[in-house]
Amino acid sequence: MNVCDKCGSPEIIIKKKQSGQKLCSNCFIESTKNKVLKDIRRQKLIEKGDKVLLGLSGGKDSVMLLDILSTLKNRGIIDLVAVTIDEGIEGYREEGVELAIKNAEKYGVEHKVVSFKQYFGTTLDKIIQNNSEDARRNACTYCGVFRRWIFNRVSREVGATKIATGHNLDDETQSIVMSYLEGNIQNLTRIGPKSQSKSEKFTVKIKPLREIPEREIGLYVIAKELDVHFAGCPYAGESFRAEIGTFLKQLTNDHPTIMYSTLRGFDRMKPVLKKEFGKESVFDECEICGEPSASKLCKACSFLKQWEDQS
Ligand code: SF4
Ligand code: ZN
Repeated sequence: MNVCDKCGSPEIIIKKKQSGQKLCSNCFIESTKNKVLKDIRRQKLIEKGDKVLLGLSGGKDSVMLLDILSTLKNRGIIDLVAVTIDEGIEGYREEGVELAIKNAEKYGVEHKVVSFKQYFGTTLDKIIQNNSEDARRNACTYCGVFRRWIFNRVSREVGATKIATGHNLDDETQSIVMSYLEGNIQNLTRIGPKSQSKSEKFTVKIKPLREIPEREIGLYVIAKELDVHFAGCPYAGESFRAEIGTFLKQLTNDHPTIMYSTLRGFDRMKPVLKKEFGKESVFDECEICGEPSASKLCKACSFLKQWEDQS
């Protein structure tokens, strides 16, 4: 019968690709939220007393995570601070920042907006304009390096013990497949729900939505009528990640469980990969900014220095 498997309501909004389970809007919201909270407990991503810095872009993933983590905050289990990074992407980021401010206010969560300009004296748009043709294709690499730098720095400034990001199942399988195809074994040893390092200056990073498909995140925010930024970043379409994303989505049409099986298989293999290929980096401090770095300069400072030398 075409009714919700949990409550019998005839208003089905999803038939799960993996299990075939049919759910109405309320039961879908409840079961997704419970799944994320269960994943958090099972993988010990968050402990009582943690102060969690949530990377809040205003997009669907981070707003859904705000919705779920704020329940832990309201139960007095964690302290939560949302941080929005303005990379300086004209015509795109402004709306995301606005929606991040609105959502942080709605959930009563402490919120900081910080920018590339403030920490690096430049914007992502300028970085792309001032560099060779390749720079556009590498936008996500630069953006990721600078964002990680900022989150880590700000997490220490606000006393956060964890950095939570809204990476979903699609993002994580893209990372796995990309690293395989590029033969980047070192990268594979670092992919997972929780990443920590020996350096105390690196805050532990967690991905509570890692097992939720992007499609279900979209459905969650629509079902809950959350106010989110749906526009895509103008640089996203030109990356290798975007090519892999399109390929995986196409595969999913005929093989609905392919992303889960990629993730499950990888998670089983990871301890072996780590044992065999994991390098324990020796961390020191970057000579320029003082952030932890395995070489003389951290990645952010070496990009900035390289561009300074070229100009
Ligand atoms: Fe940055 Fe790439 Fe995301 Fe755009 S798509 S915000 S360039 S990481
Ligand atoms: Zn540095």
